[in-house]
Amino acid sequence: ADLKKTTVALLGNPNVGKTSIFNCLTGSKQIVANWPGVTVEKRVGSLKHGDIALDIVDLPGTYTLGSRSIDEKIARDFLIDERPNVVVVIGDAINLERSLYLLLQVLELRGDVVLVVNAVDEARKAGLEIDKNELGKQLGIPVVMTSAATGEGIEELKETLVKSVRSSSHIHYLFSEEIEQRIEALAGRFRLVPALSEFDSRWLAIKSLEHDSEVEKLTGFKVEKDFSSELAETRYRYIKRVLSTSVKGKEKHGWDL
Ligand code: GDP
Ligand code: MG
Ligand code: MG
Repeated sequence: ADLKKTTVALLGNPNVGKTSIFNCLTGSKQIVANWPGVTVEKRVGSLKHGDIALDIVDLPGTYTLGSRSIDEKIARDFLIDERPNVVVVIGDAINLERSLYLLLQVLELRGDVVLVVNAVDEARKAGLEIDKNELGKQLGIPVVMTSAATGEGIEELKETLVKSVRSSSHIHYLFSEEIEQRIEALAGRFRLVPALSEFDSRWLAIKSLEHDSEVEKLTGFKVEKDFSSELAETRYRYIKRVLSTSVKGKEKHGWDL
């Protein structure tokens, strides 16, 4: 059979278990080096599952896909320049809200995203009940619950990765009507610029509204007002709605939903 090489990127907040999941997926088949020009560790490994060979890349921990810190820039540039076939956003079951904030920013950039809710062993101890099917339905993407500590869910994650590299999806969530109109106007403008054709015009528009300096350099265009807080509010509202139906026991945990 054909051995088809595909790349899967692991993304997530610091300390959610990215490297632990990476180790579960790749075992000893990994190489540790630095990202070009910086002393940030780069781990690449491989996973062979059925007739598919996956290159797995462990990206630096980040809370956003902005362009401020080195870690977020490495992660974001990798997603944009290398275009991995699948992006796995690894979330911490105990701090799902933060993880989902990063997930939404990935969904603003591209499709073929899988959410891993890791440390479900800890969540159970804390009395949190996460409804995987509801979470998946609300977000419109595959969700896998794992514990890198016990190995729970790792086989299911491998299966899900293989399925995801074979299919293709891109779901959208919407901002307010006013913001959507601005996004559409900007995106339409960026679509006419040949030099920007390799970028997702909707994503360029969203980042422009957030006064993202890298995107402003790229487009040579600055939006008069910074809409960062409006965009962040919409994301948090969306996350609260998702979590309110898919997580039980959060009162005990002091989540403000
Ligand atoms: P990274 O910073 O996202 O790469 O996270 P690491 O893989 O380095 O993990 C951070 C810490 O969480 C380590 O002490 C891990 O042993 C621990 N950890 C990772 N995954 C799990 C899990 O599923 N359950 C539990 N209980 N601990 C975990
Ligand atoms: Mg870490
Ligand atoms: Mg790590």
